[in-house]
Amino acid sequence: MKDVTEKLKEYIRRKNLRWTGQRQTIVEQLLRTRQHLTTDELFRKVQKQDPSIGYATVARTLHFLVDAGFCDQVDISDGSMRYEVVWGHEHHDHLICSVCGKFIEIFSPELEKIQAKLVRQHGFIETTHKLQIFGTCIDCQKNLCRTENKPLAK
Ligand SMILES: [Zn+2]
Ligand SMILES: [Zn+2]
Repeated sequence: MKDVTEKLKEYIRRKNLRWTGQRQTIVEQLLRTRQHLTTDELFRKVQKQDPSIGYATVARTLHFLVDAGFCDQVDISDGSMRYEVVWGHEHHDHLICSVCGKFIEIFSPELEKIQAKLVRQHGFIETTHKLQIFGTCIDCQKNLCRTENKPLAK
């Protein structure tokens, strides 16, 4: 975790930007939660630690962190973006619940190999890839059945 922050500070120095206490707080919260957060969710966490940090600062810092490659931006097709830390986090793909917004991280070496093969077949040079599978998680399937007052199919 320390290495990741150092790497980021180095990037900021190279770009002649300033490493501020507010940025530090935002990055700390991102690293601490290790989740897929919306700007709103991150803002609320940051506010608890330092109420002087405004929403615009959080949003701007997130954009900057995406540009730096520190964070990845995941479009969950409901109009909101979620952010997750990439540095120090192994590559993975996502199952995303369209009901509760839950992210399930998945990884398959076989699938990665097939994807790499497809890339080669097209003479393509890959920068990055992200597989997102949208649907309904187990918990929400149960809840939906309950609210519709229908017994689960046997
Ligand atoms: Zn769900
Ligand atoms: Zn993830």
